[in-house]
Amino acid sequence: MSIYHVLGSGSDANSYVFGDGEDFYLVDAGFSCKQLCIRLGEVGIAPEQIRAIFLTHTHGDHFRGVSVFSRKFQVPVIGHKSLYYDRSKVYQSVDISHNKDLIIKNCKFHAFKTYHDSEGSSGYFFDLNGFNLSVITDTGYYCQKMLEIASKSNVVFLESNYDEQMLANGDYPQDLKRRIASKHGHLSNNQACDFLTELAVLMGKNENEAIQIADSSTIDVYLCHLSLNNNTLQRVESGLKLLKCDNFNITVCPRGEIVIGKQAERGLINGSII
Ligand SMILES: [Zn+2]
Ligand SMILES: [Zn+2]
Repeated sequence: MSIYHVLGSGSDANSYVFGDGEDFYLVDAGFSCKQLCIRLGEVGIAPEQIRAIFLTHTHGDHFRGVSVFSRKFQVPVIGHKSLYYDRSKVYQSVDISHNKDLIIKNCKFHAFKTYHDSEGSSGYFFDLNGFNLSVITDTGYYCQKMLEIASKSNVVFLESNYDEQMLANGDYPQDLKRRIASKHGHLSNNQACDFLTELAVLMGKNENEAIQIADSSTIDVYLCHLSLNNNTLQRVESGLKLLKCDNFNITVCPRGEIVIGKQAERGLINGSII
């Protein structure tokens, strides 16, 4: 069985959890340890069931609760060797490289490069007994490798950070606007839609072929990390209406809220064989 949830995402704090019902893994811990425990409790997971925290990068919205949670529950912290943080403050740090297949407990994984203003920033691909999940957030642009990773996933957490018009017309300082929209910033709603369009093509799921595609190969996409000041749920959803492919189950994650994932039997989602 595979279980996954968004514990919260957005400008303030990001954390995802997944596991097999017994052992669980966190991706990022941007909430305080206390808040993280509350949120885990709300989805029926005990902090003692967490076997590792995977770090995408060490900006506060991803890292805030990492050290305390790691020490309190004796959880190793896994992240790229170039990530900047005080390794003496966590229970155990495990430094990794990009594009290497690794395994911890029953979870195979590899990290890949993202394009963000944080040294060593990473996305992840996880394989939990054949259930594949990927995290692609905090990246100024996407590359072919990310599309290929997403195409092998049952579940994709994909950034949809800002609406380009809202950012351009908002009152952020020009420097900050440039940083967000740069190749080391965040994915906009338009970029997320372009990603899904290209992903559909890559999977041979373009409009003409859509009829022949069985539901079984549908990817559950969670659009996340929405900006507080430069995005709204409505903006993300209206962009999605223009999307010419309907082979994804797309959920837009409201900022800061828990989003319950689907429970999947190994190799089964919604009763369809993968
Ligand atoms: Zn960041
Ligand atoms: Zn972030």
